[in-house]
Amino acid sequence: MARRKGGTSRRSAEPDEPLGSIAQSGAPAAPGADRCQGCGNPDLVRIRMTLPDGRPALYVSCRTCERTNWFALDGDGTPVPREQALGTD
Ligand SMILES: [Zn+2]
Repeated sequence: MARRKGGTSRRSAEPDEPLGSIAQSGAPAAPGADRCQGCGNPDLVRIRMTLPDGRPALYVSCRTCERTNWFALDGDGTPVPREQALGTD
């Protein structure tokens, strides 16, 4: 094996944070937000946000069936009602 000499300088531990508002990796997990409530697809767009009442939450959008939901990070897996998440009646 002569291909790798002194190969100890790989830089892979640097955080690679996206500049946009969508944080795919590093987004906190919220109960119930691990997969789509509609079709069970685990490949969701997850966006960290704060509910009108100040609770941290996660907005999830399914790539497959386009179902969207909000989940409180300290919730029990029950989706936050749309009216509550948007602060409307
Ligand atoms: Zn879905």
